[in-house]
This record gives sequence, structure tokens and C-alpha cells, in this order.
Amino acid sequence: MKPVFLFRYFCRMYINVFKFGGASVNSAAGIKNVAEILKKSGSGPLLVVVSAMGKTTNALEELLKNYLENDPLAVVESYGKLWNFHFSILEALFADINHPVFGEVDSLFNQLRGYIRKGHLYTPSLHGYDFEYDQVVSYGELISSSILHHYLVSRGCPSGLFDVRDLIRTDSTFRDARVDWEVSGKLIQKAIPGYFLDHPEPGTIALTQGFIGRDAEGNTTTLGREGSDFSAAIFAWCLHAREMTIWKDVPGVMNADPKLMPDAVCLKKLPYLEAIEMAYYGASVIHPKTIKPLQNANIVLKVRSFLYPEQEGTSVENIREWKIPTPIFIRKQNQMLISISPRDFSFILEENLSEIFRILASFRVKVNVMQNSAISFSICVDNDPQKVGPLIDYLKKDYETRYNEGLDLFTIRHYTNDAIHRVVAKRKIMMELRSRNTLQVVVK
Ligand code: ASP
Ligand code: MG
Repeated sequence: MKPVFLFRYFCRMYINVFKFGGASVNSAAGIKNVAEILKKSGSGPLLVVVSAMGKTTNALEELLKNYLENDPLAVVESYGKLWNFHFSILEALFADINHPVFGEVDSLFNQLRGYIRKGHLYTPSLHGYDFEYDQVVSYGELISSSILHHYLVSRGCPSGLFDVRDLIRTDSTFRDARVDWEVSGKLIQKAIPGYFLDHPEPGTIALTQGFIGRDAEGNTTTLGREGSDFSAAIFAWCLHAREMTIWKDVPGVMNADPKLMPDAVCLKKLPYLEAIEMAYYGASVIHPKTIKPLQNANIVLKVRSFLYPEQEGTSVENIREWKIPTPIFIRKQNQMLISISPRDFSFILEENLSEIFRILASFRVKVNVMQNSAISFSICVDNDPQKVGPLIDYLKKDYETRYNEGLDLFTIRHYTNDAIHRVVAKRKIMMELRSRNTLQVVVK
């Protein structure tokens, strides 16, 4: 057999990919639970992608904000919180304070602090916010993977830790980096199968970080918030994996957020296309970019609960005839509705629309729903002040621009009258859009 066939054969037979999100590793007990799941997960080679622990990414965003605002007191406080959080988990996991993990995590924290310490030298024009973001926020995953790796080894799990920046190559769109599939494929295929061939012990794990990558210049990049699912999909695709499992704190993919609808049910099977639609409309259970590569390579995606690992969860796969079990509700909170009209009360024409889309793209603002009338064009977007504030200022130069904040966007797949009533109830409808399968309403 040619080496490439041999490689495909080997992976198809063996490699599985697991992804553990922040909620699964938010405490010492969480890490112990993950180790248990991994120990029980069978004998074949397993690539594991891990996120930052708990709410670490948010905490790093806070640290970054304080650093960029040149507020040293706040920097010390937010840095201290991060340090305490991680070291209290380390102390609960490792009885021996001379264990090398302490030095390793300490050195990651030192690097982070070294970066922040340049605070007074920070010149915004040099790199920009998105660049700084990736350099700082990526430490969450570097730290969590180091802790999990050492814990697995201490429990007798053969684990090899890989720096994902040596494996996933991206462009330099900081905070939303695009993957170079060709280069990443080569890097991954060079490193991972060889590692498993060299370590044939049953239960061997290749552990790496989600969310981050590296550009051709050697800078750390990130793939966008919640990007670790996508990292796992990149590995699954590049390794021709048989299956990829995302371990979550919910029983699987639900038809609604149980916090919103206590009678929400777990969808046992889901076609790729339905999952893509759900992710597109904002179902936070799966990152929007994750499913496409899996579908292309026909890799089954399992969504399972790390709290109830004995349960089957949801299986996303190629299903020809899917019987729609129930309407599916997706809520996006903190939405903003922006209405854009030409200043001279003229009609909205194709020229205006193409200009508006160009502006939206240049501010990297994603449109969740849009609608136009004769004299105005309305869009519903996530209210991300970093992006939306400057966008509105810019639009105001040439257009009459008005906006409403604090809105909810509901998308109902396979809607019924009953389902619509459940979400709209007594709320004020600001915008509504219907197609055959999907209804979207923006409500106040
Ligand atoms: N840690 C990153 C975040 O919280 C990536 C992820 O968890 O998927 O967004
Ligand atoms: Mg997360």
C-alpha cells in the first residue's frame, strides 16, 4: 500500500477526537472527572482538545482590558484572580508541591505577566486590539492543557502534550483567524499518527489546546470565541477520524435552552444540515464552523454530557430522511437593531446595499437578520461594543442611522403557531422574517 493509503486506513480504524470545554475543567473535581472519562474511553488512539478552564477566557479578556486601559491596580487584581484560580486547582490535584506542573504553570503565568508588564510601552497603533487579544487570551488554553496533561500522566494515562500552534496554521486575522487547511493538514499528519505509532500502549492520548493557532509570521492567533469545537473538527478532518465527541454540561443538542424552556428535550439524532442551520442561527451548543468539515468527510459528531457520561447524547450524522421531532428554538440575546436610511429620503438602492455590506464586512460585523423597505435597511447584529460602536459612527457619516439595544432574537426551526406564541407572548415584535422552515423574530 502507498503510505497515504496506509495512513488513511490507520486513521479510519483508530483515531477518535474528543473535545472538552471550559465547563468540564472548571475545578479539580472537573479535571478528575475528565480523567475518568478518558480512562474509560477505550483503547484506541485518541486526540483530545481542551479549552481554557471555566470562565478563564472571560477573565483574560478582563485582564486585557485593564492592561489596555493602563490601569495597573486593576491589572494586578485580575492577574491575581487568575493565578489563585489555577493554583488552587493545582494544589487540590497534586499533593506534592515539587511536582513539575507547578513550575510549568508558573512559567506560563510569568510569560503572561511579562507581556502585560509592557503595559506602559503599549502603542495602540502598532498592532491593534485584535492582535493584543490573541497574545493574552491564548494563555487560558496553554495553562489548562498543561494542568490536564500532568494530571493524566500522574493517573497513569499515557498522554503527550502538543502545542497546537505547531499544528494549526492560520492567516493573521487576529481574533477570527482563518485556517490554512493545507499547511495544517501537513503539520498534523506529520506529528500525530507518528506519535501514536511510537506509543502503541492502549489508551494513549495526544492532548492539545483548542481555540488557538499560529500565523506564518509566528504570531499566536485565535479562531474566535468558543472556537475549540472548531479546533477539534480541524483535527478530525485532517486525521480522517471516525468520530468526534464534544463533551458538554448539557445532555446533548437540545431543542431549546432548558433555562428558557424547562420542557426542552435532547435530540437523539440530527442530520448535519439541521445542525449547520442551528449553529448558523446561534445555537451555542455547536460552533458554527465546526460541522462543515465533519460533514464533508462524513465524520460522526457526538455531543455528550460529561456529567452523565453513560448517556448516549446526540449523534449528528448523515441522515437521509429525518422525521422532525419538535420545533427547535434558538435565542440570541443582547441584540441590536440598526436601521439605515439615505439622508435625502431617497430609496434604498442596490448601490446603497452593496456599500453598506462593504462597510459591515470592513468592521467585521456579522448580520443575524436583515430586512429592507423602500427607504430603509434594517439589520440585527450582536451588540459587541468594540465593533458596533465604530460601525455606527461610520455609518452616520453618510446615512441616517438609528438603533435599538437590549433585544432578543428568536429563531424557530420547523415553527408552529404554538411555538411562535411561546416566544413572542407579551413581547413587542421589532422585526419578523419567515421562510418555509424558519421563523425569526426580534423582540423587545
Ligand atoms: N476558551 C475559548 C472561549 O471560551 C474557546 C472555547 O472554549 O471554545 O471562547
Ligand atoms: Mg468554552
